Amino acid sequence: MESLLGNEEVRVRLWRAADEARMHHCYLFEGPEGVGKAMTALRLALSVNCLGEGAPCGACSSCRQILAGTHPDIVVVVPDPDRATRVITADQARGIIASLQLQRHSARRRFVIIDPADALTEEAANALLKTFEEPPAGTQFILITARAASLLPTVRSRSQRVRFGPVPRAELEQWLQGRGLDPALAVLSAGSPGYALRLADGEAQERREVVGQLLATVGQPLHQLFSFTEAAGKKSDGSVERTTLAVDALEELLRDTVFVASGREEDALHQAHLGALSVWASALFPGGVARMEKAIAAARDRLRLNVNGRVVLEALLTALNLELSQARRG
Ligand SMILES: [Zn+2]
Repeated sequence: MESLLGNEEVRVRLWRAADEARMHHCYLFEGPEGVGKAMTALRLALSVNCLGEGAPCGACSSCRQILAGTHPDIVVVVPDPDRATRVITADQARGIIASLQLQRHSARRRFVIIDPADALTEEAANALLKTFEEPPAGTQFILITARAASLLPTVRSRSQRVRFGPVPRAELEQWLQGRGLDPALAVLSAGSPGYALRLADGEAQERREVVGQLLATVGQPLHQLFSFTEAAGKKSDGSVERTTLAVDALEELLRDTVFVASGREEDALHQAHLGALSVWASALFPGGVARMEKAIAAARDRLRLNVNGRVVLEALLTALNLELSQARRG
């Protein structure tokens, strides 16, 4: 199984307690969003209940059921999806209490993971207080929160606090690189792998959008092209940033054009656009591609000098349009 990031001391202490069968029956995992609190809780449930070698093995029936979310003794309680407000209701709390009256199915230790615990309504929290204090034998509560201060003091006092911190920068950078992601996300996400992934996802999504828009715009009359560059400039106040994304996208498309032109379609990044790319390939390869690559390098220089992003992009796309229309005429 993939090793977890950061917070090693915290995990060493938890696993030692588990090995020595002296876990506190109600832990409160607190710390920033996305640093691995819920993952650690699940991993602990896996380790404690694994039936295989090298716990957790990830392959035994217990591990497989837990990983699939179908283990009857490992329960993750999340806010009621039928409610607009993200709360864990008193009904849910009573459901938990009722389920703990039943015998355990197969787990060595039953886990109830409440994520996030600050979503418990006051009524739900009060209903659970006694259970947090004295759960049935073999039951482990783990409360997860990034906002410990908003928990009822009575809940906090019944649990043992376990503080998670951000993942060290070097470790997170390495992990991001290992996934082919920008290591700069380590700093942007303030040491939160979960947040870094969301950022990376948003950027990838935005880039796909830009590629689609670029392809739809190029070859169209100039006024349509300008509405794209205007939108690109407006989309965020950092218009240079958004412009850079469009320039990156254009560069990727040109690289793909070369792949397509040389019969290596399978190497193209934008597989969804092979049709458009083959049009570009016959129009631009090789002279047009070389000229556009030069134009891109010049555009990047101008962006570095803080020339208005929209102006730079317009010049670039006008040049591309010209290349494509000349090829059509010629
Ligand atoms: Zn296992």
